[in-house]
Amino acid sequence: MFSCSDIGLACTGKAMPVRKLAKDLIRWYRKHRRPWPWRDNPTPYRVWISEVMLQQTQAKTVIPYYRRFLERFPDVDSLAAASERDILQLWAGLGYYRRARNLHWAAKLIVEKHGEFPRDLKTILELPGVGRYTAGAICSLAFNQEQPVVDGNVRRVISRLEGIQHGETENYFWRRMSEWIPRRHPSDFNQAMMELGATVCLPLHPLCSLCPVEKTCEARRLGIQDQIPAARTRRAVQQSKMVILIFETGSRILLTSAMKV
Ligand code: SF4
Repeated sequence: MFSCSDIGLACTGKAMPVRKLAKDLIRWYRKHRRPWPWRDNPTPYRVWISEVMLQQTQAKTVIPYYRRFLERFPDVDSLAAASERDILQLWAGLGYYRRARNLHWAAKLIVEKHGEFPRDLKTILELPGVGRYTAGAICSLAFNQEQPVVDGNVRRVISRLEGIQHGETENYFWRRMSEWIPRRHPSDFNQAMMELGATVCLPLHPLCSLCPVEKTCEARRLGIQDQIPAARTRRAVQQSKMVILIFETGSRILLTSAMKV
């Protein structure tokens, strides 16, 4: 049995007022959310495309790509029927091209195997390029199912709300979100947690005076919000030397290298 301090929790003995937390967050989110185009009409197809584009890429960069993509491939059938060349052409500049290839492959699978976009988490998780986060986002945002999402913003918000300074595992955050997600409006709750982390509960200098859950926040109460997440200790930089030999004979070049540590 661990004590709360053993696992990095502030020992307040207070349980999180989950219903109030969800209510305050959802109300704030509806008023302050940023008007991203993928938030209008969140069909599973549109949520899926946006979430894949948003992996490794900032929202502002994604907007024009998302609009062009949806204009050209408005649904899963048109994407499945497209050529890889056309898809990659529209993706050019967005990077991580494997994402586009996986979308194409998954679209074909959906059309051939399911006939329409699958609704259950397990089947969605089997689609190429879809992980736990993307599957949770599709289930909650498009189908309003009680499926949590956890990204870097959500991890930071939970850590601060609970005053966790260290010791947390990835599963810990998924469990917390599963416990906190409300039966009503799970989509808004998930998006509120992410939006709060992206716009108010910032990594450096969180804007606590603008926060809708300030009174519920343990880190704020203790004045330790700037210390969460704890700074990572950097690994020592290893230096190594490399010798590269280049042999050139006529039009042929031979490269050879050897590492000296
Ligand atoms: Fe984050 Fe501050 Fe809100 Fe706590 S009160 S959740 S630290 S913004």
